[in-house]
Amino acid sequence: MFNELIVASQSVQALTSLLKAANSLANYNEIVAAVSDVNVKLMQSNAAALEAQQTMSQQSARIAELEKQVEAFEEWGEEAKAYGVIEVARGVFAAVPHERAGDLQATQKLCLNCFNQRTKSILQQSHEDQRQIGLTCHRCRAKVVFRYYADVV
Ligand SMILES: [Zn+2]
Repeated sequence: MFNELIVASQSVQALTSLLKAANSLANYNEIVAAVSDVNVKLMQSNAAALEAQQTMSQQSARIAELEKQVEAFEEWGEEAKAYGVIEVARGVFAAVPHERAGDLQATQKLCLNCFNQRTKSILQQSHEDQRQIGLTCHRCRAKVVFRYYADVV
């Protein structure tokens, strides 16, 4: 954008010097050629200014988009603070609220894979063969099967 502005500024300077030079032109053809040259320079300046404006507009849109992303990033950070990663069963990790009432089975558990992608996805519990417990994320299709929750003695 600065380059376009510099080009525009140079064109205006060229226009000024051409006008000063026009005072000393003797014949009509030289004046017409000088005016034509000035016109070309003006058109180039306009084109450069337009391009600069377009670039600024694109950059404004990009800035707005990035501000939105930063906002979402900060919102997620605040939301994520309420959760901690714990081992809910032997070798099975999930994000659970820091403040929870009740045992792990009754606690809302979030898929760690999705959590790390800044998305809350609640693990759904199921009964599996041989009295095992399954936790499934319906977002990323992750599923773990285990026998006991970590807090069951
Ligand atoms: Zn998931």
